[in-house]
Amino acid sequence: MSTEPRLQIAIQKSGRLYDESIDLLKKCGISLTRSKDQLFCKSGNFPVDVFFVRDDDIPAFVSEGVCQIGIVGENVLIEKQATAQDGPLDAIDTLLPLGFGKCRLSLAVPHDFDYDGPASLAGKTIATSYKGILKQYLDDQGIKAKIVTMEGAVEIAPRTGLADAICDLVSTGATLATNGLKETDIVFESQSVLIQNTSIDADIQDILDRLVLRLKGVLRSRSSKYIMLHSPVSKLDDIRDALPGSESPTIVPLEGTDDRVAVHAVCDEAVFWDTMEDLKAKGASAILVLPIEKMLD
Ligand code: ATP
Ligand code: ZN
Repeated sequence: MSTEPRLQIAIQKSGRLYDESIDLLKKCGISLTRSKDQLFCKSGNFPVDVFFVRDDDIPAFVSEGVCQIGIVGENVLIEKQATAQDGPLDAIDTLLPLGFGKCRLSLAVPHDFDYDGPASLAGKTIATSYKGILKQYLDDQGIKAKIVTMEGAVEIAPRTGLADAICDLVSTGATLATNGLKETDIVFESQSVLIQNTSIDADIQDILDRLVLRLKGVLRSRSSKYIMLHSPVSKLDDIRDALPGSESPTIVPLEGTDDRVAVHAVCDEAVFWDTMEDLKAKGASAILVLPIEKMLD
């Protein structure tokens, strides 16, 4: 009996990346019905099986070929590659950034630390869960410091005397502030990425290609807008130039007038009020900005 090829994807089973990973797959038209605590789920309408695992395990799952693809924070990917002990995690390619899970791995010190750039950390102790990335950063700058690894609650280390500084993930900075710390340098900027095993069978590659096309469509439609307006024919060049991130708008005649046309365009950048005001000042009227639900090039 021949089995139909299916693409295996690893995503975080719960945590900061879970909701957006699931949402992205759903927006790609992949239906998933997962009951709580279920660690494996087959889509009923697309040849995809989803494995729910800890984010730390995703690079190894993909490198070992247990799953052909995965969604993981770049911070975890790079750290696991830098510190892998059971063989290098090098059978991984990054396919595309996914635009969520944005955060930065930053150095932070207590407010009373007399800080004058990363060189101030020479001879100090830094607590982190990201030993690999931090070591690389310090080596690149020629700074010798002691690194203590902590799995969590890193922000507490300076107060306990365990470390002079920390290197931890930050998104708003609120946790640092609560713990009396100030962010000093960004070591690594991260977001979630789609990763793949470097060798994928041709029949599964076809499924992956379809998924990637849909993903790109979803990501583009998130940042794009459809804009419609009326323009005097004499101002068309100015108005076309003022449309953000749009290559070739559609120009449509307007009934009952020869000197005005309708302009329709997909704008690949955000359309702000000042863009609309600028278009109006250039002679545009009846300006409508609409969200785009799906896109396929
Ligand atoms: P797991 O149980 O899967 O090991 P975790 O506790 O390691 O989960 P989360 O806290 O859920 O991980 O974070 C997952 C990822 O979310 C991080 O590796 C990072 O890429 C991203 N992220 C975005 N913002 C933040 C933030 N402010 N703090 C920590 N991680 C963040
Ligand atoms: Zn984790």
